[in-house]
Amino acid sequence: MVVWEPPSRDYDFLFNEVFDAIGSIEGLGYDDFDADFLSMLIDGWGTHTKEVWLPINELGDKEGLGFKDGIITMPKEFKEAYRQGIEEGWMATSCKPEHGGMGVPTFFSAVTWAEYGTSACMALSVLPALSIGVYEVLTHHGRQDLIDYFASNLATGEWAGTMCLTEPHAGTDLGIISTKAEPQDDGTYRITGTKIFITYGEHDMTENIVHLILAKVPGGPEGTKGISLFLVPKYLPSEWEDGGLEGISRDLNPDHNGVTCSGAEEKMGLHASPTCVMNFDESVGWLVGPLHGGMPLMFEMMNRERVATGMMGLGLGEIAYQNALAWSLERRQGRDLKGIQDPGQTADNILVHPDVRRMLLEAKVNNEGSRALAVWAGILLDQMHSEEPEVSEAATALVALFTPIIKAHFTDLGCETASTCMQVMGGAGYCTEYGVEQFYRDVRISKIWEGTNGIQALDLAGRKITQDYGKNLRHLMWPLTQFIEENRDNHGMAEFNKPLYQGVKGLQQITLLMIAEGMANPHFLAAGATDYCRYFGNVLLGYMWAKMAKVCLQKKGEPFYDAKLASARFFFKRIFPETVSLAAKIQSGPKALMDYPVEMF
Ligand SMILES: Cc1cc2nc3c(=O)[nH]c(=O)nc-3n(C[C@H](O)[C@H](O)[C@H](O)COP(=O)(O)OP(=O)(O)OC[C@H]3O[C@@H](n4cnc5c(N)ncnc54)[C@H](O)[C@@H]3O)c2cc1C
Repeated sequence: MVVWEPPSRDYDFLFNEVFDAIGSIEGLGYDDFDADFLSMLIDGWGTHTKEVWLPINELGDKEGLGFKDGIITMPKEFKEAYRQGIEEGWMATSCKPEHGGMGVPTFFSAVTWAEYGTSACMALSVLPALSIGVYEVLTHHGRQDLIDYFASNLATGEWAGTMCLTEPHAGTDLGIISTKAEPQDDGTYRITGTKIFITYGEHDMTENIVHLILAKVPGGPEGTKGISLFLVPKYLPSEWEDGGLEGISRDLNPDHNGVTCSGAEEKMGLHASPTCVMNFDESVGWLVGPLHGGMPLMFEMMNRERVATGMMGLGLGEIAYQNALAWSLERRQGRDLKGIQDPGQTADNILVHPDVRRMLLEAKVNNEGSRALAVWAGILLDQMHSEEPEVSEAATALVALFTPIIKAHFTDLGCETASTCMQVMGGAGYCTEYGVEQFYRDVRISKIWEGTNGIQALDLAGRKITQDYGKNLRHLMWPLTQFIEENRDNHGMAEFNKPLYQGVKGLQQITLLMIAEGMANPHFLAAGATDYCRYFGNVLLGYMWAKMAKVCLQKKGEPFYDAKLASARFFFKRIFPETVSLAAKIQSGPKALMDYPVEMF
């Protein structure tokens, strides 16, 4: 049976001791939000996901969904769990109170909410995550009558949202989409085209589904500059005739708005998350944001979804670790190479073996380091909205820099961790009964969707580093080098601070190399991008481990803090050194890749 305890103690440590989360949102409109309320939310969400979501996770994997005549039927247990979440208000934590939301800071909804939801039931958690993404784009960029009509329904979870980008011939390359939007005299558009791989494109969890769809208005610019964003509901309001939506009731017209589902993919994991082929046939849609200005808006939504996707890597990495640990504490095989530990038993516990410890510690330490970075990023997502320009500017720059790293590095680690944890469990890990093989299958998509990890690495190396003459990087280097400087003479910190200093120096050197060589030869930059992103991810996790170690040094002697110090040591001795080999791979350039003749592949 699968076990999972929400890591709430870790969140308490990060929000209150490593980062001053409550202090950092002062003046951002969360006046009644304090540490007690945060702690209540974390515990409440942990209990809900453990008691309501976790029990349906395996069922969803085994039962999957039904697809017949264009209709997708979800397991009844999913509908019940989702409904309970709506009733308890868990679907709308970050949405504004005027739309029926809790109005709590993003650092809870984007980080803790996302991790627990994914650990407990990733297939269900993507449904509200998408709806909130649509809600945010709508409330930031939509017309007032669209906000009035759709926002509350999306915020509470009564209606669901989707993100429709991908087409059969257009995945990564969205500039070549062919879905069309024909303008009408009443200000609406008629959308026609086919989208594939649409998560929760069709289902019976909610009475309406609101699609945020990329399409091109005929006569617009070529490529991504001609893409606009439209809101297309599955069902139109029954009172609607043409044009706007002012004062219209929520009652729906039972005839669908030209939106049909012609297929549901069978796939490796996430069996209870529908992946749909969606057809739009002259469907009524409303423009969101400027005409031909859809891509920046979609990126805004995707940036949030990319952080959420990173949290999927962490969420499944965490539950995989907890299950591998529980199993390994019971399992006895072989003897300690330095002498029998448990003579009363036929074999020692497998934790006597260095290789088993290596696997478990890599999983644990990468999870906890990622969680710390996620909390920092969550706070920055709130601070982006600060009215103090220097706070919002720094936060915006860091979020831009961290987004591709969180998406790519966390999901790479999540997949590695799920695989490693399966290995810890030997043959049992490969068998369905113990759950970890489901986590391994479920987490794998996180490296692919929301822009593949290869594309994230290119975004980091080719855009985020050089953006605004290196502004994003400067906003990281200031606090990072200051931290290293402040701890230079702190004897207890030397074992963490020194390798961090070396890693940061190396990062600066390879960044300069990437920029200089990349200007002359774009293949240099592209060939090194994935290794560069991983290098960068390691430096950020190193910074997090050094920061955590500093707090824990003051509290030595208490088991929680001693464990953190031991984990920080493991990180710098056994994980961080991979930066050396990553740098060597980057420096070797593109020749070995690009000189390889195509016919010899
Ligand atoms: C289960 C599932 C759910 C999904 N949900 C949604 C959804 O809700 N909405 C939606 O719109 N889409 C969704 N997708 C689609 C997903 O976002 C795409 O699959 C993904 O963006 C990759 O596109 P592709 O599959 O066409 O791969 P391709 O674009 O064909 O890429 C193939 C390979 O080439 C690489 N590549 C491509 N172009 C470049 C380049 N310029 N430089 C370097 N490498 C490159 C890629 O990194 C990849 O390794 C989903 C997919 C799946 C499988």
